Amino acid sequence: MFEYCSLVSGSSGNCHFIKTSQASILIDVGISARRVVKGLEEIGESMEDVDAIFISHIHTDHTRGLEVLAKNYGFMIYGREETLESLNVASKRRMRVLNGPVDLEGLLVESFELPHDAPSTLGFKLSYEEKILSIATDLGYMPDEVMEMILPSDFLVLEANHDEELVRMGPYPYSLKRRILGELGHLSNEAAGRVISQIYKEHERLRFVMLAHLSEKNNYPELARMSVEKVLKEEGIKVGRDMLVEVAGRDHASGLYRIL
Ligand SMILES: [Zn+2]
Ligand SMILES: [Zn+2]
Repeated sequence: MFEYCSLVSGSSGNCHFIKTSQASILIDVGISARRVVKGLEEIGESMEDVDAIFISHIHTDHTRGLEVLAKNYGFMIYGREETLESLNVASKRRMRVLNGPVDLEGLLVESFELPHDAPSTLGFKLSYEEKILSIATDLGYMPDEVMEMILPSDFLVLEANHDEELVRMGPYPYSLKRRILGELGHLSNEAAGRVISQIYKEHERLRFVMLAHLSEKNNYPELARMSVEKVLKEEGIKVGRDMLVEVAGRDHASGLYRIL
């Protein structure tokens, strides 16, 4: 059994739950501890059973609930050294610096660096019994070496942050627009579509895509889905026939998906 659920996803908070027959982990806890506990209960899971939390980077939409959770539960905390150093967690003994793959009873967690405006922002590749789940949000563009790593994915959680036109026309100040659209910002809907198409074409084993980390102001779920479907269609890939595409909610949990 290899399962995935997005508890919440978006510029206001991110939290992924992954479960195998032997281990349960969270990647990022960018919402309050109370909401993490409640979100897990809603899908029939318990915070007590979480073995480890991996932190992708220091932005609060990825770390908000960690301090309170760490006071109440006994999980291990994994992240890059500079990320762990800036976390406000009393017990340093529970922290593990992530500088190579971690094997959690058969669940292999590998990390890769993403171009983003926080030190050492990570994405993750999780392998369990021949199946691969990759998670990449908070990236200005998809680097070739990351692409290389996640090409064999069966299940992909990928940022589709914004529609470029909405950003350009929108109310944000010029500097913030530049940040979002820049190489250390976030991936647009169209760029996400191109990444998905490239991954699918390489091995034709990508079966499920969860579009994640949507901007509240510069995107909406139907637009993200339509933009991605359009790019895929141009490449001869049909959503529904070749793969399924869903959009992760900003304030509610997705279902618990079994990775087959
Ligand atoms: Zn970020
Ligand atoms: Zn973020």
